[in-house]
Amino acid sequence: MVNSNNQQICRCRCDAPVPAELKPVGFCVSHFTLSVERTCDEMHREIALRQANAARRAEVATYMGECALLLARVASNLCLSDDLRRRMLSTFLSLMNLRENLESAASCLPELQPSEGAETQLPLMIAKHDHTYEGYH
Ligand SMILES: [Zn+2]
Repeated sequence: MVNSNNQQICRCRCDAPVPAELKPVGFCVSHFTLSVERTCDEMHREIALRQANAARRAEVATYMGECALLLARVASNLCLSDDLRRRMLSTFLSLMNLRENLESAASCLPELQPSEGAETQLPLMIAKHDHTYEGYH
């Protein structure tokens, strides 16, 4: 989308300019960070609910790499306000947390169900523990 001055307009139709670095995604800096953070939140949820299979996780890893590159390019090329700098740092942090989450989701494959036997151990152990204190009464 282009306005009368031949400048690209943010996909969210705000007044902020779209820097050359973000032309491929068509967002201003602020809306780009918001969109990345929203995607990170969605992915955390998918991973927590175990809806993200290996193919989806690979797709997300690629997406995260591209976002991190774009962010780095914006951060190193543009003069940003303090507010936007803070926003970028927290977006980087979101991407790093998501990567960690993705890696731990991948490392606990195959996804094992807890065995039913494990649950019944706990009451037994508590009962045994209580018994040892009877001598103090
Ligand atoms: Zn915008």
